[in-house]
Amino acid sequence: MKLLIVEDEQALQTALYKGFSKHGYTVDSAFNGEEALDLFFSNTYALIVLDLNLPKLSGMEVLKEVRADNKEIPIIILSARNEVKDKIIGLDEGANDYLAKPFHFGELEARVRALLRRNFKTSDSIIEFGTVKVDTAAKKVFVADEEINLNKKEYSIIEYLLLRKGKTIPAAELIEHIWESDSEDSFNSLKVRLSELRKKLPEGFIKNARGHGYYVE
Ligand code: CA
Repeated sequence: MKLLIVEDEQALQTALYKGFSKHGYTVDSAFNGEEALDLFFSNTYALIVLDLNLPKLSGMEVLKEVRADNKEIPIIILSARNEVKDKIIGLDEGANDYLAKPFHFGELEARVRALLRRNFKTSDSIIEFGTVKVDTAAKKVFVADEEINLNKKEYSIIEYLLLRKGKTIPAAELIEHIWESDSEDSFNSLKVRLSELRKKLPEGFIKNARGHGYYVE
């Protein structure tokens, strides 16, 4: 699951990058409003974390531009100003949630998860499919109730396929959602991760629709 984190404070950006990466997300970082829009219009994100007070283009302007293009993508606003009026404006402009600084990372991560669940229309943090169970809160995968060891990319692939179960997902879409936007050789890396993942899952769990992509059935 790829997130766009828009935050101009280097220390906070680094902390969020580390925190979300540790939780299995892929993160693109933008340090000002213009960079945020450039990244937004050239990539696909599952969610945006957006600071309001930014250089070049304010968070509120970024929010308006994003919403004019995309009504679905969840957006969480971060603001140093814990003012009710900012919160109301942000929510009126189409943000889905609002968190005042300073905040606890665990709270932000829980809110991100809740919004992603809502977007993927699952109310439960556990997705089960046959003998495979994905715990999206703990980022753990079980096969017949035995936990299997996956690296982050492998986890993200199986989580994404299960969230989209019934659909065939092209390799390019998996790469877009799981690999950092500037990563090279992501196609080969996807192939390696898929082959490792398949060894750990029941035989034939991930199917390949030749030339179209991957699906679970
Ligand atoms: Ca700021």
